[in-house]
Amino acid sequence: MRLSFKILIIWVKPPGTIELKTSFGDLTMEKGIRIVDLLGKEEEYTGKKALVQGWVRTKRDSKAGICFIEINDGSCMKSLQVIAELDREDYSELLKKITTGSAILVEGAVSASPGKGQSIELHAERIHLYGWADPALYPLQKKRHSFEYLRQIAHLRPRTNTIGAAARVRNRLSYAIHQFFQNLGFHYIHTPIITASDCEGAGEIFRVTTLDPVHPVDTTEEDPYRNDFFAKPAFLTVSGQLQAEIYALALGRVYTFGPTFRAENSNTSRHLAEFWMVEPEMAFYDLEDDLDLAQAFIKKLVGVVLDDCGEELEFFARFIEPELMARLQNAAQSAFEVITYSEAVDILIKSSEKFAFPVQWGVDLQSEHERYLTERVFKKPLGIINFPRSLKPFYMRVNDDEKTVAAMDILVPGIGEIIGGSQREERLDLLLEQMRIKEISADDYRWYIELRQFGSVPHSGFGLGLERMMQFVTGIQNIREVIPFPRTPGHVEF
Ligand code: ATP
Ligand code: MN
Repeated sequence: MRLSFKILIIWVKPPGTIELKTSFGDLTMEKGIRIVDLLGKEEEYTGKKALVQGWVRTKRDSKAGICFIEINDGSCMKSLQVIAELDREDYSELLKKITTGSAILVEGAVSASPGKGQSIELHAERIHLYGWADPALYPLQKKRHSFEYLRQIAHLRPRTNTIGAAARVRNRLSYAIHQFFQNLGFHYIHTPIITASDCEGAGEIFRVTTLDPVHPVDTTEEDPYRNDFFAKPAFLTVSGQLQAEIYALALGRVYTFGPTFRAENSNTSRHLAEFWMVEPEMAFYDLEDDLDLAQAFIKKLVGVVLDDCGEELEFFARFIEPELMARLQNAAQSAFEVITYSEAVDILIKSSEKFAFPVQWGVDLQSEHERYLTERVFKKPLGIINFPRSLKPFYMRVNDDEKTVAAMDILVPGIGEIIGGSQREERLDLLLEQMRIKEISADDYRWYIELRQFGSVPHSGFGLGLERMMQFVTGIQNIREVIPFPRTPGHVEF
C-alpha cells in the first residue's frame, strides 16, 4: 500500500548539499530516474523534465559554449548525454570542477538528440556535484585498460563497461537459475559452507580452524583436534552435493546454489579458489534424465541472456569475442552431442592433433582434449559419459561393465568442462565396495551409508560452475573478470 500523502519537513539546506525531499517518515535523498528507464521510454520523456544521478564518463567543452557530459549510472550499458551551457549562471563555476569519475546529479529537460549514437539528451538546468574525482589521481581516465591493470583496482573496476556489463549478466543468470528450478518444482536448499566431509577434495580443501597456526596440532596425539572449535577437522565446502543428496531423498528434487571453495594451486584462466556452484539433485533420475535436465538448463540460461542482455552481448561481441553470438545461438538451438569416454578417447587417439598430454584409455581428459572435442570435432556443446571408475569419486554409480561409472561431463566451446555430474550409487553393497577401494572411512560417512540402508532410490545430480557459465555467455577469457572479487593463489583483497 502506498501512502498518498507526504509530510513536508522544512529543512535548512547546508551549503553544497542537495535539497532533501521527504517521503513518509524519513528524510530521503532525491531519487532520480535510472538511465535504463529513461532510455526505455524515450518518447514518453521527450519534452519533460528528468533528474539523473551517476558518474561522469567523459566531459568535453565545445567552442559553441556548450559542455557535453556523458553520465553513466550502471543501470545499463549506455550513458546519457548531458548538454550544459558553459556560462549558465547557476552552475558555470561548478561545471569547471566536474571531472571524469565525479558523481553528479543533473536535472533538466529531455529532448530528442541530433547527435549520433543516442536518441535523447538531457539539457541541464541544475547540476549538483556529490563527489569529485581528482583527475591527477583517478585511475580510470583512458577508455580502455588491460584486465590485469583493472584487477589491481578491483574497487573501481565495476565502473568500466566490461566489468559493469559482466555484473549485470551475472545478476540475470543468477535469477534465471532460480527461475528454472523453481518452475520445475525444485526446492532450494542451503547446504553448509563449513563441512566435516573432506572426501572429494583431498589436497585442495581449505581447513577451518581456530587453532593457532604457529602451533599446529600434534597428529600423533590421541585426539589432536580436541581444542579446535568443532573438536574435529572442519573444512570449507568443495561441493554441496552430499548434503543435497540428503534432501533429495526426502523432498524429491532440490538444488543448492552457493559459494564453493577449492585450494587448487593452479593459476589457470578457468579456476578460482572461491566460486559459485549450482547443484541440482534429483530422486528417481537416472543418468539420461540427468543429461536431459543439464541440457535444458544450459539452453534456458543461454536463452535468457540472449533475450534479456542484448546490449551487454552486443558489447561483448564487439570488444571481447567476435564469435559470441553464433556460439550462443548454436548452444540455444542445436541438440547436444553425447558420447562415451571410450569414444572420446578413440577420437583423440585417431586425431592428428599434437596434445601436450598424450591420451590413452584411463587418463583424465585435460582442458586441451575437452576443447578439441567440443570446438573442433563436434562444434557444439558435448556430453561425455561413462568415465573409468578409477578417475571418479566413490559415490558415482558403477556400470554393469564394472570398469566405468555413470558419470557425465558437459563441455562447451571456448571453455571445456562446464558441468560435472553423475548418477549416484544407490546400492548399499556396491557403495561399500567403492568406499573400500577408495579408502573412504565408513565411520565418517555413516550417514551417507544409512541413506542407502533406509529407503534408498536411484538418484542423480550435477554441478554447474556459475563463473564457467559466465565465461561462456560473455566470451570473457579469464575467469577473474566474471566474478566481482576473484580469489586465486596469492590473491585476496577486501
Ligand atoms: P576441472 O576438471 O575443470 O577442474 P572439476 O572436474 O574439478 O573441474 P567438478 O568437481 O566436476 O569440477 O565441479 C563441477 C563444476 O564446477 C565444474 O564443471 C566447473 O564448472 C566448476 N568448477 C570446478 N572447479 C572450479 C574452480 N576451481 N573454479 C571455478 N569453477 C569450478
Ligand atoms: Mn568434473
